[in-house]
Amino acid sequence: MPERTAHAGLRAIRGRLLTFVRAPAGAGDAHSYRYIDDGIMLVKDGRIELVGPASDLAARLPAGTPVEHHIGALIMPGFIDTHIHYPQTQVIASYGAQLLEWLEKYTFVEEQKFAEPAHAARNAEFFLDELARNGTTTACAYCTAHPASADALFAAAHKRNVGMIAGNAVMNRLGPPGLLAPAATAMPDSRDLIRRWHGTGRQRYAVTPRFAITSTAEQLAELGALLNEFPGVLMQTHLDENLNEIATIKRLFPDDASYTAVYARFGLLGPRSLMGHCIHLADSEVALLRDTRSVAVFCPTSNLFIGSGLFDYEQLKAAGVRIALATDVGGGTSYSMLRTAAEAYKVMQLQGQNLPALVAFDLMTRGNAAALGLEGEIGSIAPGAFADLVVLDARATPAMAHRMEVARDLEDELFVLMIMGDDRAVRQTYVAGRPAL
Ligand SMILES: [Zn+2]
Repeated sequence: MPERTAHAGLRAIRGRLLTFVRAPAGAGDAHSYRYIDDGIMLVKDGRIELVGPASDLAARLPAGTPVEHHIGALIMPGFIDTHIHYPQTQVIASYGAQLLEWLEKYTFVEEQKFAEPAHAARNAEFFLDELARNGTTTACAYCTAHPASADALFAAAHKRNVGMIAGNAVMNRLGPPGLLAPAATAMPDSRDLIRRWHGTGRQRYAVTPRFAITSTAEQLAELGALLNEFPGVLMQTHLDENLNEIATIKRLFPDDASYTAVYARFGLLGPRSLMGHCIHLADSEVALLRDTRSVAVFCPTSNLFIGSGLFDYEQLKAAGVRIALATDVGGGTSYSMLRTAAEAYKVMQLQGQNLPALVAFDLMTRGNAAALGLEGEIGSIAPGAFADLVVLDARATPAMAHRMEVARDLEDELFVLMIMGDDRAVRQTYVAGRPAL
């Protein structure tokens, strides 16, 4: 057999390639990304082996390597969603409530259904299909309190070789009995999930207190100890989203200086901690997030829909707080990271701030990977990274194609995608080199 005949796990993907190499300083920062107008990447066993201009690589591919050529499309690393609730696919678009009422009236009702493994399994498949349709290749997902809900998502993701981060949302008070884990089983169940799934294929576990309202001090302490016991796992929760929520925290934890200080006291802050929302932060809380290298997760469609407030991106950035971007479905209103970036832009405009397209696309890919501590593994088109990719078409709709007639440059094209794009702009999604659509 000739030496250069293609190995069965080899494939090549060709098109316009764009990947970020560092956070852009602002609009026009051409050193923050690598763009190849006609590029090829060679994928071997799910990871990128080689990447470069087609003029150089096309002739060097092993004979017989299948080449998928996406003419005119922009190929980027797949989007990463750093905060989403998979049990809320039927909570999205629930009318007329702010956070605490919204939880009680809609979310807690739907989440109780996930005690039933068949319901969880069906929703896990739907959820992963929907992420793929929107070009999202990794997500940090909240499951429900039931370990079966996390098992269902991990099993479905593992079968598809999708890299997910997930955890059972632990609660032991102020919720319906069906969502409260008894003290005797909550930690053993979580420990079992970690042993079963953390590091199984591409799966990772996140310790997941829903928020400090629904866990007693004892449970938060146990979750902090769990995080400490398994150093590779992540932590995800909610923080400073809504003013009534903050007033409740003050009542439940009167001795703590702030909401953020509650999480700090129980060892739940740190470089692998994803704090959803972070809207109403006092200066001391901003300092705690910065000093612990915790991540503030910006969820614009959710913050607008639930009426929670405006995330102050520039304040947090200037303070040196790490920032990620996320949909927060079902408080969020779209699975699309493009739609999410468009709403982020508007939230920032309302505060006299701007979100350049380069910054938004970096956040959705390399930036969110860095927030998860996974830069190099996902979020980049570079040798060694998983070939998790999204193929985008900025002319996907008549209105987009019409606008693109006058597109000035790559950044303008990205801005069109971010403001007008959604799942219709996703031509293909690859997970570990294989088409997901
Ligand atoms: Zn959330």
